[in-house]
Amino acid sequence: MSYRIAGGTGEWEIVVGLEVHAQVTTASKLFSGASTAFGGEPNTHVALLDAGLPGMLPVLNARAVEQAVTTGLGLDAQINLLSTFERKNYFYPDLPLGYQISQYQEPIVGRGALLLDLPDGGTKSVGITRLHLEADAGKSLHDRLADETLIDLNRCGVALMEIVSEPEIASPEEAVLYMRKLRTILRYLGTCDGDMEKGNLRCDANVSVRRVGERTLGTRCEIKNLNSMRFVARAIDHEARRQVDLIEAGGAVVQETRLFDSERGETRSMRSKEEAHDYRYFPDPDLLPVQLTQDYVDRLKASLPELPDTKRLRFMADYGLSAQDADALVAERATADYFEVTAKGRDAKLAANWVLNDLFGQLAASGRTIEQSPVAPAQLGALLDLIAEGTISGKIARDVFAAMAVDGGDPAAIVEAKGLRQVSDTSALEPIVDRLIEDNPAQVESCRKNPKAIGWFTGQVMKATGGKANPQLVGRLLAAKLPRAE
Ligand code: ADP
Ligand code: MG
Repeated sequence: MSYRIAGGTGEWEIVVGLEVHAQVTTASKLFSGASTAFGGEPNTHVALLDAGLPGMLPVLNARAVEQAVTTGLGLDAQINLLSTFERKNYFYPDLPLGYQISQYQEPIVGRGALLLDLPDGGTKSVGITRLHLEADAGKSLHDRLADETLIDLNRCGVALMEIVSEPEIASPEEAVLYMRKLRTILRYLGTCDGDMEKGNLRCDANVSVRRVGERTLGTRCEIKNLNSMRFVARAIDHEARRQVDLIEAGGAVVQETRLFDSERGETRSMRSKEEAHDYRYFPDPDLLPVQLTQDYVDRLKASLPELPDTKRLRFMADYGLSAQDADALVAERATADYFEVTAKGRDAKLAANWVLNDLFGQLAASGRTIEQSPVAPAQLGALLDLIAEGTISGKIARDVFAAMAVDGGDPAAIVEAKGLRQVSDTSALEPIVDRLIEDNPAQVESCRKNPKAIGWFTGQVMKATGGKANPQLVGRLLAAKLPRAE
């Protein structure tokens, strides 16, 4: 995807690296037994450790380690058998310990890659630099009281994975594709639910610009805490234009941390960029290094589900689907599973169309997820069978589907109950055709001049049969009985 910013002095390209924070799906926190459940009363999911009380010791949550390694494997990444936790020291009211427990020198996961599925059907690989585990901070609530700030520590200590990309993302659109793909993989793996509205997936975008053809990277700014796909795209786009304008006006970009103001659609300076040494990182003396065995990693690898990239290629090869249809179907595991049950032993392209158009349309209109679909995949499959057998036409099938979407139910039973069975019987259709021809000489005449005039007769037969006439049979009867245009 080529993306260029036209400035007054020439063309510019942008360079983006993303740091994504993904909340690890675990029942308890990274170093304490407190619950990670969302939406609890403030300060009810807080262990003494999370509150920073002296004398408490952290105990590493084995499940969080397993989830991080699984995620690394899903990103085709190097798993580091030895990793360490360090203290990242800074003061903030929602960080009672006075430091964040994070990984720095030796993260649990090293280099990997993520494949973007481009709109033209192609792909682009973006390097993953690292993935490390860290504890989240609490939340400062500024808007509950007029002139006081409240602190909720429920989130404090919840396990996060920070997933850092190489500066290889070249447009706001690619940044969104990256976020979407990462979210899909995390959800397939079950290691993060990807819920951006709850803040369970959010990202910092590092943005710089350079003149087209320039090889060295420009000075970057980091935009913090983008919590929706739309904001990711808008913030990057705005920030890149700001930098181009600044440089073209003779200024220079200052490396800093910026905030995205979604109401104004612009980024604002927050603080000058802190360097790693400002945080006085050092290994946390309360925690032993994490030592994994290759056997442990191999076992997790063996239990990985089929991932979206593999599934996408398989859907294209086995079912003959286009890259676009395959992308749409594999984006959610539940959708891919639904499709496969529907398509098995049937016309797969037809099944894909029904899932992507009819089912998705129905779900969007009723505000349901695919898991809540009133039509089970086996029932949609049975509906496709009725079309394939000629029991109903594709058009009538839409009416049957609409009925199934209201009350569920078996399509064959709905067809019988509503008398929707297709009329494929010549002896039933022929008299209707004959009568129409007899009663409408003028229309018959126009068929002599215009081959399209036959459509009027088709419409009339459909009307007379309530849409149930077999369209192929009607076409054959009319072709045999009506005069042809010269
Ligand atoms: P930190 O933000 O903690 O200083 P890094 O220096 O490792 O960490 O960079 C973090 C992110 O910034 C990475 O995603 C990296 O790809 C991205 N990045 C680094 N340099 C640039 C640049 N010049 N332009 C855009 N992104 C960059
Ligand atoms: Mg950073």
